[in-house]
Amino acid sequence: MSVRRDRLDAVVVGGGVVGTTTALALADAGLQVALVEASAPPRWQADRPDLRVYAFAPDNAALLDRLGVWASVAEARAQPYRRMRIWDAAGGGELRFDADAMGRRELGWIVEHGLLADRLTAALAPSGVRTLCPARVESLAQDESGVRLRLEDGRSVEARIAIAADGPDSTMRGLAGFDIERLDYAQRGIVAYVHTERPHQDTAWQRFLPGGPLAFLPCAPGVRDVAAGHASSIVWTVPTSDSERLRALDDGAFDEELTRAFDARLGEVRAISQRVAFPLRRQLVADYVRGRMLVVGDAAHVVHPLAGQGVNLGLRDAAALAGSIRAAREGGADWTSPRRLARWARGRRSDNTIAAHGFDAINRVFSNDRVDATLLRGSLLGVAGRLPPVTRALWRRAAGG
Ligand SMILES: Cc1cc2nc3c(=O)[nH]c(=O)nc-3n(C[C@H](O)[C@H](O)[C@H](O)COP(=O)(O)OP(=O)(O)OC[C@H]3O[C@@H](n4cnc5c(N)ncnc54)[C@H](O)[C@@H]3O)c2cc1C
Repeated sequence: MSVRRDRLDAVVVGGGVVGTTTALALADAGLQVALVEASAPPRWQADRPDLRVYAFAPDNAALLDRLGVWASVAEARAQPYRRMRIWDAAGGGELRFDADAMGRRELGWIVEHGLLADRLTAALAPSGVRTLCPARVESLAQDESGVRLRLEDGRSVEARIAIAADGPDSTMRGLAGFDIERLDYAQRGIVAYVHTERPHQDTAWQRFLPGGPLAFLPCAPGVRDVAAGHASSIVWTVPTSDSERLRALDDGAFDEELTRAFDARLGEVRAISQRVAFPLRRQLVADYVRGRMLVVGDAAHVVHPLAGQGVNLGLRDAAALAGSIRAAREGGADWTSPRRLARWARGRRSDNTIAAHGFDAINRVFSNDRVDATLLRGSLLGVAGRLPPVTRALWRRAAGG
């Protein structure tokens, strides 16, 4: 069987959060879209919270709202966070963000990856997106009018453009010949759910330690039968050499070390789930478009998780692409013109590269115990924390404003 080029405008490869959102946003812009995904996400179950959670920015909640998905996510389980507190283990000032001071009800939401994936996937068919799953791309060919993908099961798909959204180890990126630059941070992120003695106060907390930042993200009621306000999700960045030791500690010893690392800011901490460690790296493709092949999400850029921006940046790739296509179609212009695609690619590359290098710089200054860096970060947090315009500007950037 083949899906013919004259029937499809776009084919998206990869049905993670970024790929499904891209497919839905392009369908919303009026395109005929297909999605190729290797394996369907498991159905989300409220009593099995996903260890991977995102600090979801307001612009992306608005995008999902436009696509008719946000209400069902928010109803199921999304924890608004109204404050952020960022401080350094070596002392100095504290950086504070408050929704009230920004004139908002919340700064964003903490949402499980599995819940988002579930609700986005459920929206595909009603939005007219055709899904080929399970399916993997084996080869691709492109000419000036379109792209032809051959799948491992012998099917083929033809479309005017193809979008690689198949994650950090993207096959499509290799098939299309995109150049990529990689940096291994020699750090791992340990994620787990924890119970805290004192409530989280709808606050996202981050303490910088010499080995890397430790974040506590507030969770909604319903996570692991914990009393409302006492469950958080942690992302603990540690040097690779330390991560195996921490994962192997028995529960009591891990809890003690975690409580100490967090300066007992919320009292005693107790892990209430398994601990999973993932390697941290930076990856950036040199360009986001090659002919009629585009690349978005982690396939294009993997960033340090210290600002919780990985998925937010990917969703902004999707929003910008759909916006550019919608504007072209409304103006009667060719939405596939190389100049238009190149303009989208430049905009996204610039935004994502600035973010990736910014997170690098923060990681370098904060994740070490050299005296000069210690003094610098204490004063940086102190100065920024005392200047409302600086905190507002930092916040606007994180929120996609
Ligand atoms: C443990 C962990 C914790 C994280 N925590 C955070 C966090 O707190 N905040 C944050 O913003 N980010 C976090 N991230 C990063 C975040 O998960 C990614 O930025 C985000 O998932 C990228 O989404 P994506 O859709 O681009 O890629 P992915 O989620 O990797 O999705 C890629 C999809 O493509 C499919 N696929 C792969 N190969 C093929 C193929 N050949 N053919 C067809 N389909 C294919 C896969 O099955 C998958 O569904 C974390 C990542 C991990 C691993």
